[in-house]
Amino acid sequence: MTYLTIPIAAKTVQEAKGLIMAACTAGAQMLELRTDYFAELTIEAFEMLIGEVKKCGLPMIVTCRDKKQGGQGDWPLGLRIGVLTAAVKAGAEYVDCEYENILIAEVEKKLTAVLAGSQCRLILSHHNFNGPFEDIQKLYDMFVTEYPAAIPKLVYTARHINDCFAAFDLLHNKEGDAIAFAMGEAGLISRILAKKLGSLVTFASLDAQAATAPGQLTIDQFKKKFRCDSITAKTQLFGVIADPVAHSVSPAVHNACFADAGMDRLYLPLRVQGDKAGFDAFTENIVARPWLDFHGFSVTIPHKMNAIEYIEQVGGFIEPVAVQIGAINTITIGINDRVNGYNTDCAGAMDAIISGMGNATSQEPRVMSDNSGKMLKQKLLAGVPVAVVGSGGVARAIVAGLADVGAIVTIYNRTLEKAHKLAHEFGVRAAPLSAMANMEAKILINGTSIGMHPNVDETPVPKEYLKSDMIVFDTVYNPLETRLIKEAKEVGATTISGVEMFINQAAEQFKLFTHSKPNMTVLRKIVFDSLGG
Ligand code: NAP
Repeated sequence: MTYLTIPIAAKTVQEAKGLIMAACTAGAQMLELRTDYFAELTIEAFEMLIGEVKKCGLPMIVTCRDKKQGGQGDWPLGLRIGVLTAAVKAGAEYVDCEYENILIAEVEKKLTAVLAGSQCRLILSHHNFNGPFEDIQKLYDMFVTEYPAAIPKLVYTARHINDCFAAFDLLHNKEGDAIAFAMGEAGLISRILAKKLGSLVTFASLDAQAATAPGQLTIDQFKKKFRCDSITAKTQLFGVIADPVAHSVSPAVHNACFADAGMDRLYLPLRVQGDKAGFDAFTENIVARPWLDFHGFSVTIPHKMNAIEYIEQVGGFIEPVAVQIGAINTITIGINDRVNGYNTDCAGAMDAIISGMGNATSQEPRVMSDNSGKMLKQKLLAGVPVAVVGSGGVARAIVAGLADVGAIVTIYNRTLEKAHKLAHEFGVRAAPLSAMANMEAKILINGTSIGMHPNVDETPVPKEYLKSDMIVFDTVYNPLETRLIKEAKEVGATTISGVEMFINQAAEQFKLFTHSKPNMTVLRKIVFDSLGG
């Protein structure tokens, strides 16, 4: 069992009482008494505190952390050991002593004596706040050899998500109880996967202000966003590879759909920093560890091109539409660790356009791979003049879809050279942004990030260029109603929100991940709730 543990870091017994009650109500499975946070630490005050925990019936770890190892107060060693021995005598389930302190003969003697014959177990902890340990496995082996009855706790700061794999390997290979995870934002997934990999505890705070270590999640995030109560050793993993990733609504969306379908699956935010080298290293780490059970990824800025290059490099499968677009936004890991790449942006955008024109596609087809869907799109879009603003990843996917069904596309972009290159690839036209004053488009599509949060007052197309008989589609979905969409409504144009494309492409990804359809009511609701709609 992995105990979801809330640290109680109070200055007084009175304050601690309130926190203990709140932790019990929030669903903590264990408490960690961080006695080093006390304003006036005495054995008497500590004994009152332990009495409060006993009343709530949860198991506890008693810690009086040394300042050198991240402790709050600079308490003398004698008092800290006094607290731990009092904890053992009072019936605490675990006491936590720093490895470097147990090496002091007097500390070892006192703790060994009091632990002998008690039910309490010793956690031997070691922290590195500056980065990963040079060799975490060596430290673990040393702890286990020197103190076989103790539980090693090895915690370090991750500087990159790739630093988490050392903790994963340790937990995977451990023989008895152990605690291992990485601190900091880059270590986030190690706190969540501690449960899948059988760490004795993982820590959560009552709220963001109460965190006792960098990167600690709140218990609410653990339980609601990351479905902590349903994580098992067999949980299949998915995630979104991006940088930044904190704003992504994909974890909330996919986790809600997995929960609705009763699937033992979990979707994680995966902030993969760095360019192609960072991406390649992350993917290789995943593929080399099939026991982690990662089965699929959404891929977004800045890794869509890195992803396709990686799959080409390793000889994986790339669906034809993704080859044509030159970018993928979905990866699945199949049998024999074969890596497959797909692009659901194109299908998501094309279906949003068709629905926005008042027509639903017959069988939720994936554009270009489904004939009946393609015929409908050809019927509606062949020969229709369309203006696409932008030449990045999303614009590429949309231009590919439109060109395939015979729309008359003109690409407008700030960097004209890029527009020409894209236009040449798909046999369409390119023009500078200034030429939009004379555009004769029936459909206008924003494929740039202009107007996206926080720059919500910006628009890619001046209002005077918009006409009442136009269909205006903004791929930006945060905010739900961009300035472009607001102004298009004001001139009487038909509008399509980027959220429709987002919903379609997320549904396509869900199908690729699970081979089944998501509950669209749940999916739509969670997207709108997450985006504040
Ligand atoms: P990208 O590859 O980085 O391309 C960005 C495009 O925006 C480029 O054409 C760039 O022009 C242009 N641009 C950016 N800032 C500009 C500015 N200040 N003035 C003029 N042009 C500017 O990004 P992407 O992956 O295509 O994503 C673009 C947007 O699509 C995202 O911001 C997101 O809102 C939206 N999106 C929507 C969905 C959905 O499901 N609805 C999915 C993915 C993305 P240059 O070539 O001149 O740099």
